[in-house]
Amino acid sequence: MVTKLVRGRKVVCRVTGRDSAEIVDDGAVAVSDGEIVEVGRYEDLRPRYHAAELIGSGRHLVTPGLINAHHHVGLTPFQLGALDAPLETWIIARWAIRDVDPYLDTLWCAMQMIESGITTVQHNHMSARLPPDQVMYEAASRVVDAYEDSGMRVAFSLSTRDQNHLVYEDDARFLSTLPRGLARRASEYLGARPITVEEYLSVCGELHSRRQAARTNIFVSPHNVHWCSDEMLAAIGDFAKRHRTGLHIHLQETVYQRMYGARHWGKTPLAHLVDLGVAGPEVSCAHGVWLSESDVSALAETETAICTNPSSNLRLKSGIAPINRLLDGGVTVALGIDEAGMNDDNDIVQEMRIAQKLHREPGISSPYPTSHDILRLTTEGGAKVTQFHDVGVIEPGRRADLVLFDLERIEEPYLHPDTDVVDALIYRGKGLDVDTVMVDGEVLLRDGEFVSLDKAEIAGRLRESLLGEISVREASRARLSADLLPHIQRWFAEWELECGESHYAYNLR
Ligand SMILES: [Zn+2]
Repeated sequence: MVTKLVRGRKVVCRVTGRDSAEIVDDGAVAVSDGEIVEVGRYEDLRPRYHAAELIGSGRHLVTPGLINAHHHVGLTPFQLGALDAPLETWIIARWAIRDVDPYLDTLWCAMQMIESGITTVQHNHMSARLPPDQVMYEAASRVVDAYEDSGMRVAFSLSTRDQNHLVYEDDARFLSTLPRGLARRASEYLGARPITVEEYLSVCGELHSRRQAARTNIFVSPHNVHWCSDEMLAAIGDFAKRHRTGLHIHLQETVYQRMYGARHWGKTPLAHLVDLGVAGPEVSCAHGVWLSESDVSALAETETAICTNPSSNLRLKSGIAPINRLLDGGVTVALGIDEAGMNDDNDIVQEMRIAQKLHREPGISSPYPTSHDILRLTTEGGAKVTQFHDVGVIEPGRRADLVLFDLERIEEPYLHPDTDVVDALIYRGKGLDVDTVMVDGEVLLRDGEFVSLDKAEIAGRLRESLLGEISVREASRARLSADLLPHIQRWFAEWELECGESHYAYNLR
């Protein structure tokens, strides 16, 4: 029985081309048991489903739920005290930030994401500081609990690594260059957290068998190519294939990571992954800023996807990913916020706009992504990498993951009537324009308010959890971070940055 009828002045069902989408004017979506059963004109559907609850109106824009394809934590590193810095020093500076309750942190952020129209997220949980026992399972499980309580769909992965913890070389060799006292402290810290691949996969196996659910996919995640031994990469790749699940990995985020590949394997990290058999439709790679031309072909040939994070790449001085080349080469691309975004607030609508504007290469006939391209990345692209194959499009048979934007607010006070509604969303939309959000037909947000969660209460509990004294553990980690940073900086300063031809020519000297 159809229980809900979702109405919009425009219902954008799916993107069909660079400048086109399947749109129903004054449309409606009929939902039964969380599934879309019919899409058509409101005036045709309403008489047939007159008993169904009506959601939306003639002032709304209805789109498929938006998908954030790369995310880590709730409170942003900036909120916790870490300014933007180049990735290689930023990750050490981040040791200084507070320990945050994973459940409250995730629930808070899930609410923030829902408010900007995100119905599905790829959450990559960094487990490096967790001990290799049941605690790792419990912490991961609390994150999954938070998503379940929020109602969002999540592709969850725990990330792991087993080498190059401080700089891009062997830990022992780098430690030998440090003053003895500092080397001892760093070594003690690192020694407290090694996780073997067997232990890691046993936790992933447990998560996969116990937590996989209709709205939860459990993936695996070697953190990045240079941070994992070949044995670890191959074993995790094999696990993903055997369990028919996804593998998410950071890839060539910075120039140093690409140079590491050339120095250690004589090829790019992606080429190394391909040689190890860790590439394929189940693999999605975050960032992919420093991709070679042959990497673009390899991604297309192996059907390996890229989750691009434009704000994060700007904030951490990583660069600009060659998205125009990837789209041209037929690579699957999805869009992520990487936990913060340009406004530090996890607003995917603004991230969509940045993604669109950043890749407008100079020149009248030069390539650029259209608004429709960006919407496709954030819906169908995201559905593919999170392996929720029945979302991302509004059509009968798909799950009813829908977002209603207040179109009048986006247009206010006037927008030329010929303006394409997808352009209107990408040029002018904000998370603030999101009115209603549903997952599986379940309304999570209505009129901008949460239906069953109390945002102020969650925020209060999160704030309170951080009011206590800084623990001895946190303080000693912060001191270690501050003492290590000059040495990390010095080590990377010795690398002469590789210069070559860039994918985009933004300007000339
Ligand atoms: Zn990341």
